[in-house]
Amino acid sequence: MTYDVLAVKYGMLASHKSELYYRYESYGEPDGAASMAYYFWVLRAGETTILVDTGFDPAAASRRGRTCLIAPLDALRDLGVEPESVTTVVVTHLHYDHIGNLKAFPGAELIVPARELEFWTGPFAGRPQFAPHVEAEEIDYVQRAAAEGRVRTTQGTEEILEGVVAISVGGHSPGQQVTVVEGTRGTAVLASDAVHLYEELEQDRPFAVMHDLEQMYAAYDLLNDLARSRGAVVVPGHDPDVFLRHGGDEMDENQVAVRIA
Ligand SMILES: [Zn+2]
Repeated sequence: MTYDVLAVKYGMLASHKSELYYRYESYGEPDGAASMAYYFWVLRAGETTILVDTGFDPAAASRRGRTCLIAPLDALRDLGVEPESVTTVVVTHLHYDHIGNLKAFPGAELIVPARELEFWTGPFAGRPQFAPHVEAEEIDYVQRAAAEGRVRTTQGTEEILEGVVAISVGGHSPGQQVTVVEGTRGTAVLASDAVHLYEELEQDRPFAVMHDLEQMYAAYDLLNDLARSRGAVVVPGHDPDVFLRHGGDEMDENQVAVRIA
């Protein structure tokens, strides 16, 4: 089975390099403007639609000063996807900008890294360097879904669906997983937040929000290896250039999705 792989863009944040890169001052370069885009991903094969993450809840995002270009659920409808038709949501990690619309998919199975669920329901989740990255009620929702038997947990490297492999890498969030998809136009590695921005991979510069630096570097190595050994295209989770690099129309500010593979 192969999938049409789409990246859906729904949000933006204007920022600075010194805020996005870990210890940016260590590179001895002047600070500069840098921005982040917000994406989730859609896999389609025939009648099957699988989501990789669901984007943020627009209300949570506005409280946090993020620009919502289009509500993620509206973006999906623009692509002809009704929430009821989604059978599976691959949850790459539990940060608010990845699980903010899970409630719209009450019938879907959620595929969640075991370590991620354990961490965010555990004793360190409330500490000041971690807590701001999640919405407590969204974590509760995943926990309830797990109690109802709707969550399948993953560890290590697993084929989670035919043609879709999840690899837990850690680094950014304790259980962060990347998704390797057999696309109709080749293999796509949806890095999600294992890599936010292309420069992390291309210049070996870790992102500012991290749980474990060694694991973050190891994830970069794994993704570079997948690109080399399998000819896979690696798609970062927040780089504004994803659309440009995948044939998006630079002049069309309303473009919602690009085809990755
Ligand atoms: Zn994240």
